[in-house]
Amino acid sequence: MSGFAHLVSVSGGKDSTATYLRAMERGLPFQAVFADTGNEHEATYDAVRRLPQLTGGPDIIWVKADFTEKLARKREYVARRWPMEGVPDAKVQMALALLHPTGVPFLDLCLWKTRFPSAKTRFCTDELKISPMFHDVQRPLLEAGRKLISWQGVRAAESIARSDLPRLQRINPVPHSLPKALQDLGAQWVAYAYRPLISWSVEDVFAYADRFGIPRNFLYALGFTRVGCFPCVMCRKEEMRLIGTRFPEHVDRLANWEALVSDVSKRGNSTFFNVTDDPLLANGWQSDDYDWSLSRTGIRARVEWSKTSRGGLQYDAFLAAAENIGTSCNEWGACE
Ligand code: SF4
Repeated sequence: MSGFAHLVSVSGGKDSTATYLRAMERGLPFQAVFADTGNEHEATYDAVRRLPQLTGGPDIIWVKADFTEKLARKREYVARRWPMEGVPDAKVQMALALLHPTGVPFLDLCLWKTRFPSAKTRFCTDELKISPMFHDVQRPLLEAGRKLISWQGVRAAESIARSDLPRLQRINPVPHSLPKALQDLGAQWVAYAYRPLISWSVEDVFAYADRFGIPRNFLYALGFTRVGCFPCVMCRKEEMRLIGTRFPEHVDRLANWEALVSDVSKRGNSTFFNVTDDPLLANGWQSDDYDWSLSRTGIRARVEWSKTSRGGLQYDAFLAAAENIGTSCNEWGACE
């Protein structure tokens, strides 16, 4: 396929590592890209940095979503609209003081949206991974007349939604969140998703990296089954417990993010794990007696729940079902 630009998405996890190695083994010239969400474990950054060092493969292009303009528009909206809606001036001023870019993409996205993503509303993949990869790497290639092959480390065995994805598929490379005019333009570009691991098992993936002598991301040895956002909003109960016991500093970081996003939310409450996914619900979050306080619904409460034996199976089953909703995560395999 000469004339094609081959682009491998890297995440620091097992599947994208195997995909990078597969591209090297094929001997094709390729580029590799990593989208830094700002919500990653240090071990994941290390895994991304060392991959070209250990293999002699191409450097990995590091992209980060920038919400500077979106937050400026949000400030303008809050200053104009919130007073008309009767929001107290102190609340408006606090939001205006906080709605500035921090340089941490995940946090800036949540400040802009005044909420965190959720299992059913996963705008994070599009905004934090697919869009910056498109703007910074794919779009310049396509506008220069190149045809794109996007290598994705997706396996059929991962979920029902991924089970019938084809190995090679013509795609519109423009993320769903971008304007229709750009979508229409994207339909004219030649782009394919290529999924070389589609029929591989987890064991195949680890064995392949072992053959190249590439050490695994250290998080797998601790019991994490997938790496990427730390945690993902789709985090299982056991992973939550592991984070709480092994990495309390990450729980502290998320608790600080919850406080900041709550302060720019009109309702005054925003939690990392959405309340509609709350495994502790007795009467439903829409009931009058639902306790919205961060101490009841925030990350620290979820971590405490993760140490109990209550509700884990139902919660994980709910996430497994949500995972099968058609999303960019599934179509692009941008998140492990
Ligand atoms: S890993 Fe999870 S939280 Fe991170 S972008 Fe993907 S779906 Fe969102």
